[in-house]
Amino acid sequence: MSIESGLPAGFNPDSFDVIIVGAGYAGTVCARRLAEACGMKVAVLERRDHIAGNAYDYEDEAGVLVHKYGPHIYHTTNDRVNQYLSRFTEWTNYQHKVLANIHGTLMPVPFNHTSLKLAFGEERGEALYQKLVATFGENKKVPIMELREKNDPDLAEVADFVYENVFLHYTMKQWGKTPDQIDPAVTGRVPVFVGDDDRYFPTAKYQGMPAEGYTKMFENMLNHDLISVYLNVDARDIMRVSTSQVFICDKPYQGEVIYSGALDELFGFDLGALPYRTVDMVFETLDEDQFQPVGTVNYTVSENFTRITEFKNMTGQKVPGKTTIMREYSRTYLPGVGETPYYVINEPENIELYKSYRERVAGVLNFHCVGRLAEYRYYDMDGVVASALDLSDDIIAAHN
Ligand code: FAD
Ligand code: UDP
Repeated sequence: MSIESGLPAGFNPDSFDVIIVGAGYAGTVCARRLAEACGMKVAVLERRDHIAGNAYDYEDEAGVLVHKYGPHIYHTTNDRVNQYLSRFTEWTNYQHKVLANIHGTLMPVPFNHTSLKLAFGEERGEALYQKLVATFGENKKVPIMELREKNDPDLAEVADFVYENVFLHYTMKQWGKTPDQIDPAVTGRVPVFVGDDDRYFPTAKYQGMPAEGYTKMFENMLNHDLISVYLNVDARDIMRVSTSQVFICDKPYQGEVIYSGALDELFGFDLGALPYRTVDMVFETLDEDQFQPVGTVNYTVSENFTRITEFKNMTGQKVPGKTTIMREYSRTYLPGVGETPYYVINEPENIELYKSYRERVAGVLNFHCVGRLAEYRYYDMDGVVASALDLSDDIIAAHN
């Protein structure tokens, strides 16, 4: 592998079999697979000054390993994804736990047996819990929007409390809309859990953190003789896509192109900008060993940030006398001015707009879209890896 800043003078795209845009999960998994399975020579273009996309981590001035683009916790039920990534890292056995700060009381989220007793008192909490068990069964996940539909006074009491104290204000801060106004799959990511398990991902088959961090795992994945990475290179400066061809450095390019950036941006937003939410991440290093009891505390009724993450609680790193925390402030993403489009907004008109861009490239047979931006999908890391494995399967099959 080589990693350089900028493109070398006389860069010749034709000396590569594949050009990949983006060194996040989507681009990196495809790079490694095509180099390894087909012996293809791969150039990865990345406009940031680092690899690993939004999973990038680094040691800050206090020596604390932090996640620059928000807390990333690996979790999956996908055997193939887990097997693939595990070639490039060992995992810690970190199990993510989140507490909601509800008027000063910290309650587990997903809302569970313990949370019920904290919210309603021992006796009433237990009675409500038994009602949930009788209705849904034990160790079951119940999305809040589904719970709200039940016509039972006890269940309605639970639903009203959880809706008001866990979902309403947090969702307003995160999306600028109430839970009723957004795709139910979004709040469904954090269902009420009818059980005692207090982990954020209670049913994930695999979870943990890469033992030496995410960036190291990406370095290992990109470490292949046939892969060259060029940082600080915006592909739009050298790439143009027509309805039938990709042009790189002003010449039609015949190799494969894998694109993991935003599609509207590639076309100068000429059909309109795809809406996203961005997040201002505000880091603070404190002169203390530990700030909060768990990795993340969600501020579900107060404050104008959504959550505080304390990285040492997730990585298990020992840095005596110092800890770094991060607050997330979500807001509307402004296109075209260098902001990071973090969250797609899954609404029908946005999906329609995305499809119009996607149709434009449908006839460009060597141009492939993959990843959270290029597919305009609210993917977790494992979903992106699965999609990149599928795409690379297809390309490998076509070349063997
Ligand atoms: P990215 O990581 O965004 O990579 C795309 C890369 O392409 C970027 O590096 C970008 O700079 C580059 N690029 C774009 N356009 C160009 C261009 N024109 N030229 C050159 N380079 C370009 N998932 C989990 O599983 N667990 C979590 O705990 C979790 N937490 C998250 C927290 C936050 C705040 C966010 C926003 C996401 C979180 N995710 C989490 C999701 C995870 O970040 C994504 O699923 C994953 O990183 C997406 O990988 P990707 O390769 O599709 O995109
Ligand atoms: N959510 C909420 N309160 C919480 C946790 C989650 O209202 O305490 C809602 C909110 O709308 C959020 C969504 O559930 O955007 C999904 O939460 P998740 O933690 O999966 O979001 P991410 O980690 O992707 O930001």
